[in-house]
Amino acid sequence: MPKESFVEINGKLRYLDPWTESTHLTFTVTKVYEIFETPFQTVDVFEAEDWGTVLALGGVTNVTDRDESGYHEMLSHPALLAHPNPKKVLIIGGGDGGTLREVLRHPEVEKCVMVDIDGEVIRVGREYFPQVASALDDPRAEVIVGDGLAYVEEHAAAGDQFDVILIDSTDPVDAAVELFTERFYRHCATLLGQNGILVPQSDSPTFYLDRVAGVYHTLSEIFANTRMYLGQVTAYPGGVWAYTAASQGIDVAAAQDPSSPRIQRLEPELRYGNGEFYRGVFALPTYVRRALDRQPAHPLTSLSEDPVLKGF
Ligand code: SAM
Repeated sequence: MPKESFVEINGKLRYLDPWTESTHLTFTVTKVYEIFETPFQTVDVFEAEDWGTVLALGGVTNVTDRDESGYHEMLSHPALLAHPNPKKVLIIGGGDGGTLREVLRHPEVEKCVMVDIDGEVIRVGREYFPQVASALDDPRAEVIVGDGLAYVEEHAAAGDQFDVILIDSTDPVDAAVELFTERFYRHCATLLGQNGILVPQSDSPTFYLDRVAGVYHTLSEIFANTRMYLGQVTAYPGGVWAYTAASQGIDVAAAQDPSSPRIQRLEPELRYGNGEFYRGVFALPTYVRRALDRQPAHPLTSLSEDPVLKGF
């Protein structure tokens, strides 16, 4: 994949990220750092005009200097702020370290476990994204190289508990497929108990609305409170990304309070989110609302054939 991703156009080296089979984000490459395969994915690291350093996994943009903060902040802070006392946090995926950096901005967090299947992504994060990977050596961090499904299965069976679980995985392809299943989410629910909060990155509402709706419907079957929100991630398909906050006992949207001392302390450190924004971000565009309001249990294929979805 990496070789086909790099092409010369108009005399310049470009990197083509397939948002769909027909639409690509085209980077103008100024320097190639590494191109290699791991047992789990292809890894491309390069410098691009307008974007800074770029990490692509499986030929798909995962991290860019330009917009990584928007993604990592939105995945992390709504849940951490909604939880009354998030002491113990689990990140599945997140090898670049950006989500770990955001989690550890919260002084209430006493321990954050990060489980990524590919140790090479952690190495690349340290080497090429120092500002993203800045918290990897924090004494509160425990970094594990392993499969997220196996981890939650083993620790749910052992009776472990987490206050917040963030799924910062690649999209539902290759090694990450299992991280979008009911089985995986049910193990997370066991780990979270009554007031724990789960937030998986939930894909592109613009081009993969069936995947977004699939995550929402699956979580809605398991958790009493399931709330979706969107945020800008310029380099991801369509430039807007979905996140789903699920909990038995906490409505993450209703819990957002711009006047809380916690968000007021945090805000100056953030580049993208703020208290008012977190309160408003759960209001969804109609095309997304329509997709989420459909009856659950439709196989994804019927969703993708649906006239409501086909139109977007
Ligand atoms: N922000 C990106 C996105 O939304 O696509 C995700 C970035 S993060 C680098 C994705 C990570 O998920 C990768 O490092 C990959 O190795 C990891 N991953 C994929 N499948 C996994 C699994 N089954 N268990 C743990 N980590 C996994």
